[in-house]
Amino acid sequence: MGTITENKDFRCSVCGQISAQPVITEQDRASGAPDLDLRPAGAQRNNMRYWAMKCPECGYCCTTLDIPFDDSREYLESDEYKTCGGITVTNEYAERLIKRALVFVRDHTYKDAVRSYLAAAWALDDDKDDRHAKECRLAAVKLMDGHPAAFKGDNNFLLLKADLLRRAGDFERVVREFAGKAFPSQIMTAIAFFEVHLSASGDSAAHRADEVPGVSAASQGD
Ligand SMILES: [Zn+2]
Repeated sequence: MGTITENKDFRCSVCGQISAQPVITEQDRASGAPDLDLRPAGAQRNNMRYWAMKCPECGYCCTTLDIPFDDSREYLESDEYKTCGGITVTNEYAERLIKRALVFVRDHTYKDAVRSYLAAAWALDDDKDDRHAKECRLAAVKLMDGHPAAFKGDNNFLLLKADLLRRAGDFERVVREFAGKAFPSQIMTAIAFFEVHLSASGDSAAHRADEVPGVSAASQGD
C-alpha cells in the first residue's frame, strides 16, 4: 500500500495564511526492527517529508501550521531561522525539520527539538549528505548538553545520545560516557554495550536494533 496522503487546508498560526498541505491518511505498519536511533523500518522509513509543514507566506515550520508559536513573527525573519542555524542544507524536507527544531527550541520543548534534528539527519543520510547530517546530530547533542533538566532521568534519550554521538563520529565520548554503564533494563544495558563496542571499532554506520547481541527482533514481523 505504501503511504497515502491527501491535501488539507491549514491556517498558519503566525500569519493567518491558508495553504494546502499533504497529510498522511494511511501508511503501512512498520515491519522489521528499527535502527538504534528508532528510525522505523519498511514503508514508514521515508515519511519524514510529511512530518513538518512550511507556511508559504511567513516561513513558519511546524508539525502542522495551526500549532501556536509562542515566539514572535520577527524570529522567523531572523538570520538564525533563515539559515537553519547555520546548517546550510539544500534538501527542502531537512530544511523544514531543522526549522521546526528551532521553533521547538524557542518554545522550550527540547525533546521535540532533538527528535526534529534527528529526522532532519535521516533525510540527509538518504542524500548521502554526511556533513550536514553530522551537524544535525551534533545540534541535537548540544541541546541535550545545554538543557540537562529537560532530559534528566530519561534513559531513552540517553541511549539516543550515544547513537547520535557515534553516528557523528565522536567515538571517544561514547566510550568515555557509556562504557560499563548499567541501565534499569537489560535491553538498555545491552544497547549501550553495543554502542560502545561499535564506537571502539570506529563504526559510524546505521545499525538495526535487532543486531544488538542478546536482543531478539521483538518488533519484527506482522
Ligand atoms: Zn505563516
